[in-house]
Amino acid sequence: MKEKKGTIRSGPLSPGGNVRGLQLARMFLTNNLTYFLARLALRPLGRRLRPYQEAAVQGILAELHAAYSGEKPVIFASAFVPTELIYGLGAIPVLPEVWSGFAAAAGFGAPAVTASEAAGYSQDLCSFHRCSLGLENLELLPKPAAVIVSSHLCDGGRRSLYRHSRSFGCPFYVLDVPYAATPDGAAWLAHQIERTARDLVLKVPGLSLAGLPGALAAANRARTEYLAVCRLRRERPAPWAGSEALNYVAVFLSGWGSSWLPEFYAQLRCHLEEAIRRRAFPVPQERHRLLWLNLRPYYATPIFTYLEKECNTSTAFEEYSHLYWPAHTPEAWAESLAAKLVAHFGWGPIERRLATVWSLVQEYGIDGVVQFNQWGCRQSNGGGRFLADFLRARGIPFLELAGDGVDGRSSGAAQQLTRIAAFVELLEARNTLPPGRRIEAITRQNEVHDHAGSRH
Ligand code: SF4
Repeated sequence: MKEKKGTIRSGPLSPGGNVRGLQLARMFLTNNLTYFLARLALRPLGRRLRPYQEAAVQGILAELHAAYSGEKPVIFASAFVPTELIYGLGAIPVLPEVWSGFAAAAGFGAPAVTASEAAGYSQDLCSFHRCSLGLENLELLPKPAAVIVSSHLCDGGRRSLYRHSRSFGCPFYVLDVPYAATPDGAAWLAHQIERTARDLVLKVPGLSLAGLPGALAAANRARTEYLAVCRLRRERPAPWAGSEALNYVAVFLSGWGSSWLPEFYAQLRCHLEEAIRRRAFPVPQERHRLLWLNLRPYYATPIFTYLEKECNTSTAFEEYSHLYWPAHTPEAWAESLAAKLVAHFGWGPIERRLATVWSLVQEYGIDGVVQFNQWGCRQSNGGGRFLADFLRARGIPFLELAGDGVDGRSSGAAQQLTRIAAFVELLEARNTLPPGRRIEAITRQNEVHDHAGSRH
């Protein structure tokens, strides 16, 4: 029988892991009735959901339904490909790394990682990729009509998404992002984007270039609202819990160009304005403000409850929520998307990332920086030593917290809490020292922490 575009592949589930839970997840994702029932359930639930949460849930549910029913083509993309391109062509973007985060939150991270390791994938590969390959193995992913990756930042993404394209037998495109952000490099990238879009229209039925200006205009509307959200997040105490904000990095990575993102950010802006007006802060007695680098663990973890409730410490902002590109010119869509790709602060010389981290420290009144060192993430972890030296020289404590974002079995939660407790002590001590002695004390105490961390 010919497989319907967008449908899940059939086959036996892996005998390992939570088989009943996996069967239910497959049933939920592939059954039209469950989407109908989920929308019905949203009405009473809507009273408990905040309007911005409801906007996100409605948007994501509609896309899941369109993806799994085959109503719209699905395009897989690596995390830093501009999704405006995919929405603009009339497809649904699926970012397998983001789905790994959802899987971890739903309790399927470990079984999916196990399934990919059983298929021979190395533990050296970032678990966000191992998990997405396992999700494919467990037949939980929709079927893509094409796969697009960018060459920058995430090296594992290119290879794991290539594997998805081979498994599903669909076209694979690489956007080769020039290392230097020069006008010539951006023009070359814009040419690649245009060629990719035109080729996709020829190869995937149902796609067209007509929606691209509209998708970029929608992204601009969302951008305006989002910048207002960022301004509100500078308030003290922080008006949005960092633990929740880090969950919405998934939306930040995958929602640009959708019809629902402007509404989501508009509702979030209203929510934060109201929280500030009513002084309903998640950490009312805020003593310290953190900047969080890279992703968070997406399975249940005590880290944030400990920080917020026990240590009165807010995660005021996250590196991956930083909006780094200029407003789009919708008619010049290829050039605009190229400008977005080359503008990423994590690409190119390390000085770009250092400058961005420093501007976030100043903008959000940050007292300490935590980098979550996701196992296998070379692009982020490789900058750790430079960040440590750079921040300590400016009197800002820096903690590298090793762990796994998807697989709770290798998280070492107790060690993480010990290191966080020591870090918060350092923040306390820093507050009580005269400015002239802060840098010296931070350097000395962090050397002790580095040695402790390197033993783990
Ligand atoms: S954590 Fe790093 S290696 Fe893993 S998917 Fe994200 S960018 Fe790629």
